[in-house]
Amino acid sequence: MTISTKMRGFAEKSSWIRKMFEEGAKMKAKYGAENVFDFSLGNPDVPPPPEYNRVIQEIVKDETPMVHAYMPNGGYPWVREALAGKMSQEQGIDVFHGDMLMTCGAAGALNVVMKALLNPGEEVILLAPYFVEYNFYVDNHGGVSKVVQTDAEFNLDMAAIEAAITENTKVVITNSPNNPTGQIYSQESLNKLGALLDKKGAELKTTIYLIADEPYRKIIFDDNVVGSVFQATKNSIVLSSYSKDLSLPGERIGYLAVHPDIADKAALLDAMTLANRILGFVNAPALMQRVVAELQDASVDNSIYVKRRETFCKLLSDAGYDFIPPKGAFYVFPKAPIADDVKFCAILQEEKILAVPGQGFGAPGYFRLAFCVGDDVIAGSAAAFQRAMDKAKA
Ligand code: PLP
Repeated sequence: MTISTKMRGFAEKSSWIRKMFEEGAKMKAKYGAENVFDFSLGNPDVPPPPEYNRVIQEIVKDETPMVHAYMPNGGYPWVREALAGKMSQEQGIDVFHGDMLMTCGAAGALNVVMKALLNPGEEVILLAPYFVEYNFYVDNHGGVSKVVQTDAEFNLDMAAIEAAITENTKVVITNSPNNPTGQIYSQESLNKLGALLDKKGAELKTTIYLIADEPYRKIIFDDNVVGSVFQATKNSIVLSSYSKDLSLPGERIGYLAVHPDIADKAALLDAMTLANRILGFVNAPALMQRVVAELQDASVDNSIYVKRRETFCKLLSDAGYDFIPPKGAFYVFPKAPIADDVKFCAILQEEKILAVPGQGFGAPGYFRLAFCVGDDVIAGSAAAFQRAMDKAKA
């Protein structure tokens, strides 16, 4: 075997999401795609907004010399300028385009941040349930993940976070609206977290950075509001992408911004810009940068997700599932009706439902359902969810 021992280990315990995706492909080949209820992947089926098609068709006509050339590694300055306005509104603080970088999705941005910040062995606090790829990104840059559970309603548990902080803590990652729970942290709790990190940083004579991963910021339900980490602490970085709110995950376009007063700002921005290059991204895709600059006020049709969330929550509730209705994103994270979430996902699979066990998100005893699938899949799954519940209770 020639591959590294570490990668072999990763491949074996790699993402549950990937495993379920592969299971799904097999089941669809066997039973026909229309007979399988696949809630395993957060791959949005809602089309990009109509403005996207108009803008991209205009942009591809551009034959200006060097329009496809390399560019500054942080991205086109004028594109960042176009994004800075929106970012300033969202964060309630003036964000300067020079404090932003265009990246290959939120995943690219996370890797750039980790590469720039982490020394070997430094710790990154992940708040479970969390997006499992964080573990791999932290490891990519020599860091060590430390998992801290949120409370019973998936809110931040300040005491648990405080207890986990050591002199090696460098980063805390928040993700709100959250994958997999759909939870949104209140501004009050973000402020408490920011104050805690500032206090502990001062005590331990270090800087602890708060990183907000926000690709679901625009997919929200009811009157929920997504808060601002820039209001919570100056040592914060916000990163996001257009994968979910413009339904462009395959196009790999995202961005990050640092707080105007973040510690070591100039050095940090230089390090992140270099990281964007030497991680092999070089720069975010030129065409997509030009597209998203024009789409700052556009978003997918959120009413589709609102409707699905209502139908899905009702159907699950009628079948006896216990869950907190999501405030944002497109996931529901119910309690498994038996203690073993992997076993319950196997029961769901017998009913041709694909779900991801909570263990895959650092939260055993739950399972994740992604409702970025057609209304017919959701409606058609009702009886199968009921049978799975009946089997679990039998
Ligand atoms: N962060 C979270 C919480 C996600 O759910 C995802 C993708 O599902 C990502 C980051 C990566 O997003 P992107 O496609 O923009 O890299």
